[in-house]
Amino acid sequence: MNQAPTDRTRIRRVASNAHYDSTTLHAIIDDAYLCHIAFSDARGAHCIPTACWRGGEHLYIHGSNGSRMVRHLLENECCVSITHLDGLVLARSAFNHSMNYRSAMIYGRFQAVEGADARYALETLMEKLTPGRQADIRPGSDKEYAATTVLRIALTEAACKVRRGGPDDDETDLAWPAWAGVLPWTRAPMAPQPDPACTISAPAYVSDWLRRG
Ligand SMILES: Cc1cc2nc3c(=O)[nH]c(=O)nc-3n(C[C@H](O)[C@H](O)[C@H](O)COP(=O)(O)OP(=O)(O)OC[C@H]3O[C@@H](n4cnc5c(N)ncnc54)[C@H](O)[C@@H]3O)c2cc1C
Repeated sequence: MNQAPTDRTRIRRVASNAHYDSTTLHAIIDDAYLCHIAFSDARGAHCIPTACWRGGEHLYIHGSNGSRMVRHLLENECCVSITHLDGLVLARSAFNHSMNYRSAMIYGRFQAVEGADARYALETLMEKLTPGRQADIRPGSDKEYAATTVLRIALTEAACKVRRGGPDDDETDLAWPAWAGVLPWTRAPMAPQPDPACTISAPAYVSDWLRRG
C-alpha cells in the first residue's frame, strides 16, 4: 500500500500507533491464519471469521459457491480485520491498563479469482499452512475446484495499528505500590496428534511444527 490514509482509514485515536506501509501490513497478514470480515445485508451487520492468506498485494479467502458470505462479498463493500495479541499491559491504575497488539483493517470489495489462478491461490494457502504438503496429498478434483470460490481483495485501502511497550502511567501514579509491566502473550504450536489410522511417519512440516511460531 504505502499510500496516504483515506478518510476512513486515518487513525485518529492514538495516531502515533498508525502504520500505512506494506511491510507492516504484509507481516500482519502473513502471521495470521484467519481474519474477520464485516459486512451488512438486509438482516443487519455481520462479522464472520474465515481463513485468509496473502498473495502479493491481495488478501485471499475461499468458500463454498453456495456461501451467503461469498455471494454477498462479490457484490458489496466490506471491511477485513486481523488482530494479533502480543501482551497484557499492566499499569498502576485500572484506567491505564492496555494491550500490546498488531492489527490491520482492509477496506474494499472482493473479486473472484478464476481458473488456473484460483488453483494456484489454493495451493498457496496449503503452502502457508504446511510448506511442502501440497506434493503429498491427493490433488483436488475438477469437481472440488468447481465447488470452491476463491476471492481476493486489493491491499490498497488499509490501516495498521501497532502498540508496543510498557504501561503509560500517569506521573502521579508512578509511586503507587503495584507491580507494573507487560505480560507477553503469544500463540504457540503444540505437539502434533496423528490420526489413529495414519501409519505414515511424520514429514518435516509435521515434525518441525513445534519450532514454528
Ligand atoms: C487487542 C486490542 C484491544 C483493544 N482494546 C481496546 C479497548 O478496550 N477499548 C478501546 O476503546 N479500544 C481498544 N482497542 C483499540 C481499537 O481497535 C480502536 O483503535 C480504538 O477503539 C479507536 O477506535 P476509533 O474508531 O475511535 O478510532 P479512530 O482512530 O477514529 O479510527 C479511524 C480509522 O482508523 C482505523 N483503525 C482504528 N482502529 C484500528 C485498529 N485497531 N487497527 C487497524 N486500523 C484501525 C480504521 O480504519 C478506522 O476507521 C484495542 C485494539 C486491539 C487490537
